[in-house]
Amino acid sequence: MILVTGAGGSLGRLTMDALLARGVPAGDIIAGVRSPERAKDLAALGVEVREADYDRPDTLPGALDGARRVLLISGNEVGRREPQHRAVIDAALAAGVEHLAYTSILHADTTPLVLAPEHLATERHLRASGLPFTLLRNGWYTENYEQAIRRAVTEGVIASATDGGRVASAPRADYAEAAATVLTTERPAEMYELSGDTAWSMADLATVVGEVAGVPVTHRSLPPAEYEAALTGSGVPVETARMLVGMDVDIAAGWLADTPGDLSRLLGRPTTPLRETVTALLAG
Ligand code: NDP
Repeated sequence: MILVTGAGGSLGRLTMDALLARGVPAGDIIAGVRSPERAKDLAALGVEVREADYDRPDTLPGALDGARRVLLISGNEVGRREPQHRAVIDAALAAGVEHLAYTSILHADTTPLVLAPEHLATERHLRASGLPFTLLRNGWYTENYEQAIRRAVTEGVIASATDGGRVASAPRADYAEAAATVLTTERPAEMYELSGDTAWSMADLATVVGEVAGVPVTHRSLPPAEYEAALTGSGVPVETARMLVGMDVDIAAGWLADTPGDLSRLLGRPTTPLRETVTALLAG
């Protein structure tokens, strides 16, 4: 059996679809969720839905019972994730799991991205555990820009402090398919640095959105302090604004631009181009 934690989230749900598309029988898949009563859509796929709450280690042995392979999808509560992930890894080890894949972040061991330390701590715990593992070091989801893309259509502008920096993003579905591939490969590598085949700039994104929507869209490049002021001025909380600006500064420095090709190699096809994802987002 294969257990996917965080199965009710966006990436988890897409991983379910990708496992089924690869021919894994629904009866061999366990969807780990915090609230099984809210996961009727997953149950409708025929997979077994079990409670798996990273904050409640008592739920984990039951969730892991009979699981040979596990995908630990990193949680979304930044600042709380290290003990949460540790609990899942420890429970997987105790349950005799044969292999655990973890969704980390691109270049977790060297990147200055503020989100990285929790991922790196999880990676280190996993390595030290002795459990056979795969690190899926995911780069940026193209969908991270969904709001900016939608706003650009009405406002005609995408603002950023990326200063011409590039992002090699891919849509969640590509990362989900890669995860499903690893889960169904007998001896996957220990680490993949996953990113889109092509790194694009915010000016490229503005051009693509404009062409897809048929409206003029430009990129407004702002110095970090001005971008932070613009974000807080439009109602974004200061802490969030600082985090967003910090990420843009890291993008400006090239930390999300790497295109090593691991993702397309795992997929056996090119990653989904920016234009295709923008078209799908605006059609949705
Ligand atoms: P979502 O926010 O859609 O899903 C996160 C999942 O984590 C949810 O299913 C949630 O469960 C689950 N979760 C959170 N806390 C717990 C917990 N205590 N116990 C069990 N499950 C928990 O995120 P995505 O699916 O889009 O992305 C997956 C992960 O990737 C994120 O959680 C984050 O770590 C990371 N990420 C990566 C990005 C990138 O660009 N590479 C961007 C954003 C996030 P529930 O359904 O019960 O809420």
